[in-house]
This record gives sequence, C-alpha cells and structure tokens, in this order.
Amino acid sequence: MSSQICSRCRKVINPGDLFYRLTIKVFADFDGVINIKDRKIDLDKEFEKIKSCPEDLLEEEVYKEFDFILCPRCKEIYCANPLYLPLGEIKIDDNV
Ligand SMILES: [Zn+2]
Repeated sequence: MSSQICSRCRKVINPGDLFYRLTIKVFADFDGVINIKDRKIDLDKEFEKIKSCPEDLLEEEVYKEFDFILCPRCKEIYCANPLYLPLGEIKIDDNV
C-alpha cells in the first residue's frame, strides 16, 4: 500500500500510520413547500431550463461528494470547526 497524503496539510502518512477519512456529502433537500407567492413561476420555462442544463452540472446542483484524507492533527482541527465558522472564542494553534 502506498503512502497517503493529508488533504489539508500535505503531510505524508506512512503505511501503518493512523489517518482519518473524511467524506462530505452535500445534497439538496426539499421540505415540500413551493413558494410561489413572491414570483410567478412559468413551469414550462423552468422545465426548459432544466432540460437545457448539462446533466453533470445539474447533478452537481443536487449532489456533491468530497473525499479527503486527514492526518490525526488535521482531523482534530477539522472536528473542532467543521463548518469553518468564525473562530471567536475557539483557539486553534494552526502553526503545523
Ligand atoms: Zn494534516
């Protein structure tokens, strides 16, 4: 098995070393509410828009998957703030 490289800090993870796999799935959700109060939706036009959209692009609109390899340190850093929110009180030493 060849060495892996941390997706975040580029550190080489040697065979046998602990590493983490991070999979992020982003997909469209729908609560069933169609909001037509504010704007007039021409269904035929909307449908044409969808049809003219390249399929892979449309796919990306509704589903996206990321796959990363993380070293233990980057895993800690990632888990401390997965959404990359403004740090505020959280202090992370990023001098890797
Ligand atoms: Zn790392």
